[in-house]
Amino acid sequence: MDPIVIVGTGLAGYTTAREFRRHDNETPLVIVSADDGTSYSKPMLSTAMARGKSPADLAQASATEMAAQYQADVRTHTRVTAIDGQQRTVALADGSELRAAAIVLAVGAEQMDPGLGGDGADDVFAVNDLSTYSALRGELTHAERVVIIGGGLIGCEFANDWARSGYHVTIIEPQQRPLGRMLPELAGNTLAAALQSEGITLATGRFAERVERADGAFIVHDDQGTTYPADVVVRAIGLQPRTELARAAGIEVGRGIATDRHLQTGAAGIYALGDCAEVDGLVLPFIMPINQCARALGATLAGTPTAVEYPVMPVIVKTASCPVQLYSPSPSIAGEWQEEALKGGTRSLFHDTEGRLRGFALTGSAVREKGELAKAVPGYFDNRSP
Ligand SMILES: Cc1cc2nc3c(=O)[nH]c(=O)nc-3n(C[C@H](O)[C@H](O)[C@H](O)COP(=O)(O)OP(=O)(O)OC[C@H]3O[C@@H](n4cnc5c(N)ncnc54)[C@H](O)[C@@H]3O)c2cc1C
Repeated sequence: MDPIVIVGTGLAGYTTAREFRRHDNETPLVIVSADDGTSYSKPMLSTAMARGKSPADLAQASATEMAAQYQADVRTHTRVTAIDGQQRTVALADGSELRAAAIVLAVGAEQMDPGLGGDGADDVFAVNDLSTYSALRGELTHAERVVIIGGGLIGCEFANDWARSGYHVTIIEPQQRPLGRMLPELAGNTLAAALQSEGITLATGRFAERVERADGAFIVHDDQGTTYPADVVVRAIGLQPRTELARAAGIEVGRGIATDRHLQTGAAGIYALGDCAEVDGLVLPFIMPINQCARALGATLAGTPTAVEYPVMPVIVKTASCPVQLYSPSPSIAGEWQEEALKGGTRSLFHDTEGRLRGFALTGSAVREKGELAKAVPGYFDNRSP
């Protein structure tokens, strides 16, 4: 019997394996990963330091333990170099080939490259996995000053975690406020004030352009001629789904690997989920959507075609100084934000031109209103059209 082949041992790959095994203990399962196959919780990377957790503490299970748990052949440090959608084969970097009953692409995303100049550009960290985080923590042991390029969700979370751990942190961000593309004005200003109260310097409205080496450290230069000395530089300007394998196989790719609500790509028997996927037009690189997709796909792979359902799943920003919960309205919806300062927080509601609630952002103490508001907005698939 040909196996189900899952490519990737992140949350998407392993959760699909778990869900599949809930329905089927017979069909062979092969999980191929370019990394060492350690199972870990990626969201913990950006809160670990202030909680006193080392990178080793974040590893939950080894590849061998995961193989035993899911009765799977887990092949680590093995890169998939090509897939063939017609023949349903997977080519591995060692030159061998696997025939598959179905192929699941769970290959994640890359941190986007801001195209920095300067002789220190190659030393800038881009953290999206445990091993890079581990290397970064090694560098931080003899550092004091950290510059983070990008004040989005990941940049702000790392900044808050490291500032609380005693580092001098600067965020360089092109928008006027942190999370500037996600949060309306009052909510964004509230987050900014909270980050500043942690000692974080916000250099907003500017682009980082170059990173130069200087006496064993770095100088970051922005587009307005300001310079920022740093012992460690990190970039976090957004994620780019890994689509090359699908694209090279002639499978449709949009912002991510395009799938229908059954997680099937344009090629029969080839599926995608997680940070690499665009599910019925939506790229949602977060844990809850991945769990929803894995649940549906596990059933589908076991012979019961199941479409994914997306309930309202607000994004949680884990900035300890100012927790944020956010359900962004689709850019295709016309409307406006109404914002209100509350005791210890802010509430921002986005209504469309007909007065219907389409999104919200809550900061500080207001995050406890999430449950009520989540009941009042349409789910992701229904929140796109006017
Ligand atoms: C710092 C940080 C904090 C976060 N916090 C939150 C949070 O609080 N809440 C939330 O919902 N989400 C959060 N996220 C997002 C969430 O962690 C991700 O959406 C999720 O972990 C992605 O899982 P994945 O399996 O799709 O991708 P990944 O974890 O990136 O896994 C991809 C896998 O594919 C493998 N791979 C890639 N290419 C190949 C190849 N060619 N051959 C073989 N293997 C390959 C890789 O080795 C890896 O095993 C956070 C992300 C980061 C970086």
